[in-house]
Amino acid sequence: MRYCARCLYPLNAKPTIIFDDMGICSGCRHHEARATIDWAERERWLAALLGEYKAKSREAGNLYDCIVPVSGGKDSHYLLHLIKGTYGLNPLCVTFNHCFNTALGIRNLNNLVERFEVDLVRFTANPGAVRKIARYMVKRVGDITWHYHAGIMTVPFQIAVKWKIPLIVWPEHYGEPTGVFSLHDMVEFTKWVRQEHDMRGVEPEDIANDPASGITMADLMPYQFPSDDEIADLGVRGIFITNYLYWDDKQHSELVIDKYGFETMPGPRDRTFKISSKTDDHANHVHDYLKYLKFGYGRGTDDASTEIRYGRMTREEGIEIVRRYDAARPWALDFYLEFLGMTEAEFEQAVGPMRDPAIWQRDGHGRWQVTDSVVNHAKDPGVDAARVPQSDDRALSARNRRLYYVEGIPPVTSGAVMDASGRPSGGDRFVIL
Ligand SMILES: [Zn+2]
Repeated sequence: MRYCARCLYPLNAKPTIIFDDMGICSGCRHHEARATIDWAERERWLAALLGEYKAKSREAGNLYDCIVPVSGGKDSHYLLHLIKGTYGLNPLCVTFNHCFNTALGIRNLNNLVERFEVDLVRFTANPGAVRKIARYMVKRVGDITWHYHAGIMTVPFQIAVKWKIPLIVWPEHYGEPTGVFSLHDMVEFTKWVRQEHDMRGVEPEDIANDPASGITMADLMPYQFPSDDEIADLGVRGIFITNYLYWDDKQHSELVIDKYGFETMPGPRDRTFKISSKTDDHANHVHDYLKYLKFGYGRGTDDASTEIRYGRMTREEGIEIVRRYDAARPWALDFYLEFLGMTEAEFEQAVGPMRDPAIWQRDGHGRWQVTDSVVNHAKDPGVDAARVPQSDDRALSARNRRLYYVEGIPPVTSGAVMDASGRPSGGDRFVIL
C-alpha cells in the first residue's frame, strides 16, 4: 500500500484520495490551500447570504431564518455560536435521534438548547425499525450507521419543506479530510452526495423492495427525501460553513468548552485519542472498526493526520497513534451485536467480501491479515521533504487534555454529566432514547 509522505492516509482512503509527485495526498494539499483563500471576502459572502435569507423569511412571515441540523457536539455548539451569536439569525435546530446515544451526548444536546435558547425538533426513530435497518445494512454494505447518516441528511429537508424554511446550514463537508473538492468549488448539498456518500447508494425503496429485508416503507419514513418539486418550489439550499470561514476545529472546541459548557469524554476511548468529537454515540466506534475491517485504517489515522497537517504532531507520533488505535476492537461492539441480534462470527462473515484485497488477505489458516500499515512506512522516501513546520502547541501535551486523551494525563471534566433522571453518570453509558 502507498501512504501519504506527509500524513498517514493510505491510497485506498475513502471517499477518494490522490497523491501528487511529492507523494503528498489531496487531503494535505486541501489543508494547505486554505492559506491561499481570501477569508475576509468569503465572510462577506456568508454575511450577505445569511442576511438575504433572514430578510426573505421575515418577509414571508416566518420567524425561523434557517435550519441547523445538530447532534449536540462541538460543531453544533460552534455553529450556533456563529448563526445565532455572530449573525443574529433565529435558527430552528433539528436533531435526528438515531437511538445510539451516550449519556454525555444527551447532556450536551440539552446544554446546547439551554445555552443558546433555541427551539429544537428532535425526531426520534423507532428503535425496532432502527434495529432491523442497522442489521440489514451491516449485511448489505457493512454499515451500522446508515440510518443515522440517512436520517441526518433527510429529516432536516422534510422539516424544511413542511415548515417552509429554505436554508439549511451544516458545518463541515465530508470530502475535506481527503480533499475530494477544491475550496474554490464552493460545494453545496446535493441529492447525489446524500445518496452516494451518506446513504451508500441505497434509497429506502431499495431496502423495502428487497423481500428478504423484512423492512417496510413505514419503517423507512424518516429517510424519504422530499420530491424534486417540493425542493424546487421552496428553493431549498444546503450550505457548508467551512466554505466561508477558516475552520479551526481545535480552537472552536476550546471556545465552546470555555464559553458554553460543552463537555468532552471523561476517559480514554477505544479507537482514537480525540475525546472532544463524536461524543454523542458509541456506534461510531463500530462504524469506524468496520472501516478498518474493510480498508485497513481507522480514526487514529484520520485524527492524527489532522494534527500532523497543523504541525501539532509529527508523522512519527501519528504512527504511534495508528499502532495503538487503528486495529483495536471496540468494547461497544458487544453492545451492538446484542442490539442487532448477531454473533461476532456472523458480523465478520458479513464483512468478509467487503474487505479491500489491496490490504487484506487470508493466511494459511483462512484468517484475515492486513498486508501493510503506515507503521511500516515511517522512513519512506519523501517523508522528510514533505514535513510541515512544527507548532509549539503539541497535540499530546497537558494543555490539550480537555480535547485529547494523553496517557498519564487524565482528562479534565466538570463532572456535569447526568443521565436522563439527573443522576451523575460516567457519560459513556448507552442511552437509546
Ligand atoms: Zn496526506
